[in-house]
Amino acid sequence: MSDCPTDEPLKPLTIRMRDSDNVAIVANDGGLPAGTALPSGMVLRDKVPQGHKVALVDLPAGGAVLRYGIPIGYAISDIPAGSWVHERLLSMPEARELDALPMATTRGQAWPPLEGYTFEGYRNADGSVGTRNILAITQTVQCVAGVTEFAVQRIKQELLPRYPNVDDVVALEHGYGCGVAIDAPDAIIPIRTLRNLSLNPNFGGEVMVVSLGCEKLQPERLLPPGSIPVVDERSSTQGLDVVCLQDEAHVGFMSMVESIMRQAQTHLQRLNARCRETVPASELVVGVQCGGSDAFSGVTANPAVGFCTDLLVRAGASVMFSETTEVRDGIAQLTARAATPELAEAMVREMAWYDAYLQRGSVDRSANTTPGNKKGGLSNIVEKAMGSIVKSGSAPIVGVLSPGEKLQTRGLTYAATPASDFICGTLQLAAGMNLHVFTTGRGTPYGLAECPVIKVATRTDLARRWHDLMDVNAGTIAEGKATIEEVGWQLFHLMLDVASGRKKTWAEHWKLHNALVLFNPAPVT
Ligand code: CA
Repeated sequence: MSDCPTDEPLKPLTIRMRDSDNVAIVANDGGLPAGTALPSGMVLRDKVPQGHKVALVDLPAGGAVLRYGIPIGYAISDIPAGSWVHERLLSMPEARELDALPMATTRGQAWPPLEGYTFEGYRNADGSVGTRNILAITQTVQCVAGVTEFAVQRIKQELLPRYPNVDDVVALEHGYGCGVAIDAPDAIIPIRTLRNLSLNPNFGGEVMVVSLGCEKLQPERLLPPGSIPVVDERSSTQGLDVVCLQDEAHVGFMSMVESIMRQAQTHLQRLNARCRETVPASELVVGVQCGGSDAFSGVTANPAVGFCTDLLVRAGASVMFSETTEVRDGIAQLTARAATPELAEAMVREMAWYDAYLQRGSVDRSANTTPGNKKGGLSNIVEKAMGSIVKSGSAPIVGVLSPGEKLQTRGLTYAATPASDFICGTLQLAAGMNLHVFTTGRGTPYGLAECPVIKVATRTDLARRWHDLMDVNAGTIAEGKATIEEVGWQLFHLMLDVASGRKKTWAEHWKLHNALVLFNPAPVT
């Protein structure tokens, strides 16, 4: 063995998704230089960066550029075979109209159920299961965030060591609650998001609230009677547990802090008495998402996640996929996969609502793609959407949620959310997510304090450089070292380990977490 560079010729690797595609992406680290001969004998006319497309045939001006078997764009001028097909050479197709769609027409393959898989979770009074045992402190308004955070730091230092079964204390900080048009029709979205967030299965049904006093979002409006499951006899008679900072009983800042700490103690005692128990894998509520995507997202990580989605659905679990602007261009595939025409119609309603929302801001779905997406080889939102949608696997869609709603169905659900990583994650938490899977090609250190986040790298180069941030490397698929199925199974087993607390994700290890960000399409005042 020698460390000297060898003269071994570079083996060009290109990936074509469908036989009908007239472009392929270059898989080699660092891309391929002009003059490289591909196995087909075709010679590259340009240098093609990693993840970018090469024309496999002569593409005439106006001709469709096909990837995933569909037109992702039209050539603006003639593109000879062997050329680098970058976004400046393409015009983007119009979004599919939302009428005359195939409604619940696809009958997916009937897979046998997957039985015998379990994890160790915390069973809650309402039947849901937590993967972590966290005290969450709900806030009605941003005004109380500083005081709550001060109290949380003291709880962590002074109280938490006495309750070893409790994993963490988390303040559910947000920017809402006052200075907003709270009676606007769309205000229901941030309000129900906050309500359902405080009921996430990882919080054990313990709800405590810090309120300012004068805010628009009063505690009773946030959590009306009957919205909280009864934890025990005492809490049902005491009503909502609220610390109100403007309460006349408080003299001085420390009185507020101590009041929050005293209330926290009651909840910590109950949480600490809980133990993990063996539960079926069907108790997983998984949210899948991508962020910082590249052209490999739809080739490696997302197909592996999609395979894992099918495994989870076969095991009876709940899986949510989201990100409306990233599925809009694949709407015909999704309405076809809906289990009933009513569900297909619900999906169309969500798309139409989002089209109108974007239009109000004088943009359309094309506002989604980032400079990083383009650098990673994704020419436009159509190409990005085709790669994103793959996360949903092949199961029928049995549920559709509007933003902020709570999940009620097992199986595969479309939970409508913006594609913004933090807003999507927040809405999936509100829906009841107890485990998050996040794929990335460009790389993001994303994490949530409320729920474990398993991050899947689309490329080996990213997995190598970010070895202590990425939990799974799906780049092995592009290198031919692992199959989509193998990485899907690896992810499935890792999910059971992480859900059980046997393994921590890198984001948990480093305590990396992003802010909760509410989706508020209503006006602020
Ligand atoms: Ca995202």
